[in-house]
Amino acid sequence: MQALRLILADQLSPAITSLDEIDREKDIVLMCEVMEEATYVKHHPKKIAFLFSAMRHFAAGLRRQGITVHYVKLDDSANTGGLDGEIKRAVAELNPEKLLLTEPGEYRVLAMMKQWQQALGIPVQIRADTRFLASHEEFAVWARGKAQLRMEFFYSEMRKKYGILMDAPGKPTGGEWNYDKENRKPPKTGLASPKRISHKKSTITNEVLALVQDRFSHHFGTLKPFHYAVTRDEALMELEHFIHQLLPNFGDYQDAMVAGEPYLYHSLLSSYLNAGLLLPLEMCRMAEAAYHAGKAPINAVEGFIRQILGWREYIRGIYWHFMPEYGERNALQATRPLPEFYWTTQTVMFCVAEAIRHTRDHAYSHHIQRLMITGNFALLAGLDVKQVQKWYLEVYSDAYEWVEMPNTLGMALYGDGGLIASKPYAASGKYIHRMSNYCAKCSYDPDIMTGERACPFNALYWDFLVRNEDQFRRNQRMPYVFSTWDKFAPEKQLAIRQQAQIHLQKMAEGSL
Ligand SMILES: Cc1cc2nc3c(=O)[nH]c(=O)nc-3n(C[C@H](O)[C@H](O)[C@H](O)COP(=O)(O)OP(=O)(O)OC[C@H]3O[C@@H](n4cnc5c(N)ncnc54)[C@H](O)[C@@H]3O)c2cc1C
Ligand code: SF4
Repeated sequence: MQALRLILADQLSPAITSLDEIDREKDIVLMCEVMEEATYVKHHPKKIAFLFSAMRHFAAGLRRQGITVHYVKLDDSANTGGLDGEIKRAVAELNPEKLLLTEPGEYRVLAMMKQWQQALGIPVQIRADTRFLASHEEFAVWARGKAQLRMEFFYSEMRKKYGILMDAPGKPTGGEWNYDKENRKPPKTGLASPKRISHKKSTITNEVLALVQDRFSHHFGTLKPFHYAVTRDEALMELEHFIHQLLPNFGDYQDAMVAGEPYLYHSLLSSYLNAGLLLPLEMCRMAEAAYHAGKAPINAVEGFIRQILGWREYIRGIYWHFMPEYGERNALQATRPLPEFYWTTQTVMFCVAEAIRHTRDHAYSHHIQRLMITGNFALLAGLDVKQVQKWYLEVYSDAYEWVEMPNTLGMALYGDGGLIASKPYAASGKYIHRMSNYCAKCSYDPDIMTGERACPFNALYWDFLVRNEDQFRRNQRMPYVFSTWDKFAPEKQLAIRQQAQIHLQKMAEGSL
């Protein structure tokens, strides 16, 4: 045999570089389901089932093309349970001349891969992951010498590079780079999620569901019902359904939250994109084509493209540019233990319980729930940044450290000291009340600051700002916040801060 080519669970793309110039006669592709990767954090059962099923379907697709695949199932008796062990076992058994890899999505795995050449005694080539639209080098060149690494500037460079939504060089379609101000509509009465497509479960998926039920049912989250696409064809059906049926309203309701409606007009495509079943550029091009065909308005199309071409690439750039030091940051010294309700949903706060229920049932909650409900609460309460990151990595089917960490540590928790967010995404109950119908179903009242029925987000919001005053008082994007606080009478300030302590005490006792 000539080359052993490794494909990881999030590398399920025919265009993955580890498959470049494959020799179908001599080369072998290695894929393995390993316990260590499924449990180093206890991933949601839906995520494990999605990935194992998608891997098995991907392997079957390669075999149909005449490629030899050495596939190790989780329950194979000789499975060592770890990636490291499986590589060593495969090399010993198959005796390849070299090992070809595509760089992984986690620093931890890259560090492991870098040991392999020495440990295996054969050449190991780690290739770039060209599915992403900005390389590490391009990001480093963009970041060099800049005092602030703001996403907006990175994003406009990406629009120019790919000529997406551009009327002419330097001229964004419609005259603006960003239409976000049109994308903050509160939910109108009766707003509901349109029906989603579902996929017939194959024999492979049913086998995987039985395996996951058997081995991972103690992890947080429900396995069934299971509606995920598990092949590229199915993921493409999801993409087309989104572009034709949902994209027109995506922008308008991007920030809205409705009780009992986990999806609204969000695409639900992140799991497919992150695993490689879909590619970022094809998603952006399809959205752009919908705009040019008059099928979707500019605010929706630009908003969707910005998430993928802008945010997603920028977040990945930040991760690789600043790791491993980035992962140790805790700028606000947030160390309070994660309360039990993040696992049980047992909290009186309806908004928090609802976001966690969606997460438990679907391995999904949408961006504003992640950022402004569970993330905002963690920020205001000063929850331990590592525990919060671990929670986000465990509970979402689209979670991989390269994308989870900067979103959680940087965007939601301001734990990177403002590298990503120019001001903290901190909000009181007023914001949640405006953007959702949650408060009407809650025992707390978003208009009350102190007392039994006071919404915890209110006093915690002020307490957070005052607690971290040295970081934020001079922040130019928060001009009115501290002047409002300063106008409160000293007795009011004291009452708010005491109320915050009561909330934190109740949180520790499990009664918030
Ligand atoms: C605290 C926190 C943790 C998060 N963890 C993850 C994670 O582990 N994995 C993940 O893919 N996203 C993560 N996000 C980003 C975002 O919330 C999800 O990508 C999005 O909710 C996925 O749902 P969707 O496919 O319906 O997205 P849509 O709202 O339909 O957006 C379209 C696509 O844009 C991309 N996108 C949007 N926002 C971001 C972003 N901030 N960073 C990267 N890509 C983005 C996604 O690929 C998404 O599929 C996190 C956000 C926060 C605030
Ligand atoms: S009142 Fe406060 S805790 Fe209750 S749903 Fe509204 S914002 Fe959330």
